[in-house]
Amino acid sequence: MLGAMQDWDLVVTHLLDHAAREYAAREHVTHWADGSRTRTTWGQVKRDALKMTQALRAAGVGKGDRVATLAMNHARHLVSWYGAVGVGGVLHTINPRLFDEQLDYIVNHAEDRVLLYDAQFQPIIDRLRDRWPTVTTYVCFDPPAGSDVLGFEEWIGAHDGDTEWTEVDERDPCMLCYTSGTTGNPKGVLYEHRSTVLHAMAGVQPNLFDFDSRSVMLPIVPMFHAASWGLPWAGTIPGVKFVYSAVNDPAVLCELFEQEGVTHSAGVPTVWLGMFQHLDSIGKDVRDIGKLGTAVIGGSACPRFMIERLMKNGVRVAHLWGMTETSPIGTAGAYPWNWDDMSFEDKIELVSKQGRSAFGVELRCVDLDDPSKELPRDGQTAGALQIRGPWVIKRYFKADEDATVEGQWFDTGDVALIYPDGTLQLTDRTKDVIKSGGEWISSVELENAAVGHPSIAEAAAIGIYHPKWDERPILVCVAKQGCNVTGDDVIAHLRDKVAKWWLPDAVEFVDELPHTGTGKISKKDLRDLFRDYRLVSEDAA
Ligand code: ADP
Repeated sequence: MLGAMQDWDLVVTHLLDHAAREYAAREHVTHWADGSRTRTTWGQVKRDALKMTQALRAAGVGKGDRVATLAMNHARHLVSWYGAVGVGGVLHTINPRLFDEQLDYIVNHAEDRVLLYDAQFQPIIDRLRDRWPTVTTYVCFDPPAGSDVLGFEEWIGAHDGDTEWTEVDERDPCMLCYTSGTTGNPKGVLYEHRSTVLHAMAGVQPNLFDFDSRSVMLPIVPMFHAASWGLPWAGTIPGVKFVYSAVNDPAVLCELFEQEGVTHSAGVPTVWLGMFQHLDSIGKDVRDIGKLGTAVIGGSACPRFMIERLMKNGVRVAHLWGMTETSPIGTAGAYPWNWDDMSFEDKIELVSKQGRSAFGVELRCVDLDDPSKELPRDGQTAGALQIRGPWVIKRYFKADEDATVEGQWFDTGDVALIYPDGTLQLTDRTKDVIKSGGEWISSVELENAAVGHPSIAEAAAIGIYHPKWDERPILVCVAKQGCNVTGDDVIAHLRDKVAKWWLPDAVEFVDELPHTGTGKISKKDLRDLFRDYRLVSEDAA
């Protein structure tokens, strides 16, 4: 016997239909690279997306075709997300910070048909277009005055928007994102309509983004990074106002927070570092620049001092853990039931961990050496973190069917422990763990403690070969500008924060650390740089 309810496929165009119907006049603001600002509304976004659907059809683009974007955050980019899926296509957001070889590989692997880009990335197009035979249409979102490239407004302006979305099945693909691939080629994650709508519905809840119709969201997380954490989809549900900045300048961001009444923001920890520095330079703090109530921070571990400063300014910090392969939400800062009874110190301690899972995903840790052994949720035993759920990857784009992990658990490549109340704490990536004398040392905890030092801007811990202990940690630090700090200062600072045997054998200072295309510290490159490094500690025979 079947149930007796209606069929209403979970397709992402329903999201925009809803926002345009229920919140037609709710506006979005874009601050462009040239300093100008434009405004649009949910109603207009839908009309423009429908026009783009017609423009795509006219260009011969249809169901399943890949429509790529190489762009920063702005409202035309938002339109293009819905235009691409509206034609039944697959939106492919490309990270412009990747290296040419990776960009070359990704566009060819995805077989992109159309590429929409920001004028600032014109040099990338000029360098690589000969290597991209599948791309037949290039459209510039913001063509400079007098240039002869096809502009977005001109392209969609040739149509009237009087059309319907192309019909698709909820299991059809709607979006393709590549992981930055620190080893080997980048891998594509192919989201489907159903997984995306479920993820969006989960995202708005108080335990995650905590949206309602009064919310004003300034996403600092780029639209090309991990589906912008699902925000362009989830924001439709309560009809939030988006405030976009096409430039990542802390001064501009602070101005937007203040002038546009921003209540919510989302970004990786480093963007907050820049904001803090700017605020310090103008003698202000976060509470002085408007109404920020929720900061969603993830992508890498959010340091304790950052959480403390934001919380002291009355901001709720939702510490999000996730990955491109998980759409990306895995956990966020869901409050425990006893939150109100906790001391401020305990709250900071808790928020420094990676939060608890949202309904829709399940987490577990297994033994690093024996994956068949599930570990207890005791807050002590670290293991390989696995995840499953309807918005978790089944297999990579174009991977063999037999690479499917259906019904099984996806291996995240992270090392973590889970507490009895479900709180997740990340300790490392499997590739980055430091094993000393048979015991694990958490590089993440060492780094977090180190950046708590007032003179340290960034820190990374890596394992160095040691004849007696196999590996010992060293800490590679970048000092804040104008600060005089020594390795001994850092060790003294760490002494009451980590176990004695975790203390790094050496602290080295560099001008900058290597970063990946998504702005994270590249441990692989750092290890390469320190390949010939030798410890001079007494034990190192
Ligand atoms: P990429 O792998 O391309 O850098 P992802 O954004 O998919 O892009 O990276 C996901 C990884 O980032 C996770 O597996 C984890 O190692 C790390 N990460 C994400 N969020 C956090 C967090 N809150 N704390 C620590 N690490 C995090």
